[in-house]
Amino acid sequence: MQNWSKNVDFNDRDFLQPGSLAELQEMVRSNQKIRARGTAHSFNEIANTSGCAINLAKMPRVIEVNSNKSSVRVAAGLTYGELAPVLQSQGWALNNLASLPHISIAGSISTGTHGSGIKNQSLANQVISLDIVTCEGELRHIDRTNPAFSALVVGLGLGGIVYQYELKVEPTFEIRQVIYPQIPFDILHRNFDEIMGTAYSVSYFTDWSSDQVGNLWCKFRDNEVIPKSVGGNSKAESKYHPIPSVDPTACTDQFGESGDWHQRLPHFRLEFTPSVGEEIQTEFFIDRKDAAAALDVISKLGDVIYPLLWITELRTIAADELWLSGAYQRDTVAIHFTWKKVDAIYSVIQKVEDALRPFNYRPHWGKVFTADAKYLSTVYPRMGEFKALILALDPSKKFENSFTRRILS
Ligand SMILES: Cc1cc2nc3c(=O)[nH]c(=O)nc-3n(C[C@H](O)[C@H](O)[C@H](O)COP(=O)(O)OP(=O)(O)OC[C@H]3O[C@@H](n4cnc5c(N)ncnc54)[C@H](O)[C@@H]3O)c2cc1C
Repeated sequence: MQNWSKNVDFNDRDFLQPGSLAELQEMVRSNQKIRARGTAHSFNEIANTSGCAINLAKMPRVIEVNSNKSSVRVAAGLTYGELAPVLQSQGWALNNLASLPHISIAGSISTGTHGSGIKNQSLANQVISLDIVTCEGELRHIDRTNPAFSALVVGLGLGGIVYQYELKVEPTFEIRQVIYPQIPFDILHRNFDEIMGTAYSVSYFTDWSSDQVGNLWCKFRDNEVIPKSVGGNSKAESKYHPIPSVDPTACTDQFGESGDWHQRLPHFRLEFTPSVGEEIQTEFFIDRKDAAAALDVISKLGDVIYPLLWITELRTIAADELWLSGAYQRDTVAIHFTWKKVDAIYSVIQKVEDALRPFNYRPHWGKVFTADAKYLSTVYPRMGEFKALILALDPSKKFENSFTRRILS
């Protein structure tokens, strides 16, 4: 078995798929090493284990909206592609989604997965409460009044197996997507907050080539006015894929047509393979106030990055209070790289990390990075407390794997 990008061979002793809470609890109780796995879309070893992998895709498919609380109780192993149409059919929406709907809710929340938007926090901030199966097999309800809540939501699979979440929802809304092509870097750098604030959710795609331009993908909410041009550039008249050489059929509609939130917020449609497939991703989170300076240092590496890259995506994420969130207490710019799947990328990733170190970059937990525990503890200020909490909850280290050992010890 491998992960989605086929750069990780899983070495599970067993692959378990419980069909009920009682079965899940018994599996956790009776195994010494066990680790949750969602849809295996992470690009590193985070979902691997030398013990038993446990996957919740066969659990009861709970989706229960509570209109009075504006919340939904949802089975943690469902994907956003399974949840979103049900919410929509009942008149509800999540405030944001990632670039693809194919990923599991628990896997995404556990790694701090995000979409874009100056005012939008990561998807983990949709969590009101979570029900976790602890290392003893007990079911534990954790809500925002629990001091451990902020630690365990972006929990890297270490706090236990999340069985269900209660997520915030809001009345359904529509999005219109429009692309403004060929916006020069220097215009973006000089007006970063303004340009990235053009719409509810904005992404800038560039390849760092000598053209020094990028395409701005804007997702407007119903009440927002679509400008005729941005940075002097008019709306696109043809359909785009984030990677210029790839057929855009797999992408959601882009000519300003109104569509349900879940059919516009992701770049990719559920029924197609997202992105390119033959790829490795990395992503680094920087304080948004440092965006222009950080983008300048990456620009200087353009010659080495460009030949190995499919595309870079820049997004914004609003600050939050979740201890291991990439946007913990900082309004953030996310600098993402979709790399070609060749060995030469690893030394370039290291160069990118070196260049971003003065900005105290934080890596995306589900993507490739080389930073060690010492560095990570300097940029995630609550890391020490997180480690102590996890040790208290799971003294026999049932849920850890070699990846979490590397980043925590
Ligand atoms: C094409 C592509 C596009 C992507 N786009 C984005 C994007 O737009 N934004 C972004 O931020 N990321 C993006 N990612 C990264 C992706 O969101 C993360 O890797 C995410 O973790 C994938 O979810 P998953 O279900 O596959 O998790 P997995 O890789 O299966 O697992 C990730 C972690 O979640 C834990 N976990 C899973 N289920 C549970 C559970 N029930 N209880 C406790 N822990 C659990 C695992 O133990 C592991 O630690 C993208 C990835 C791909 C392949």
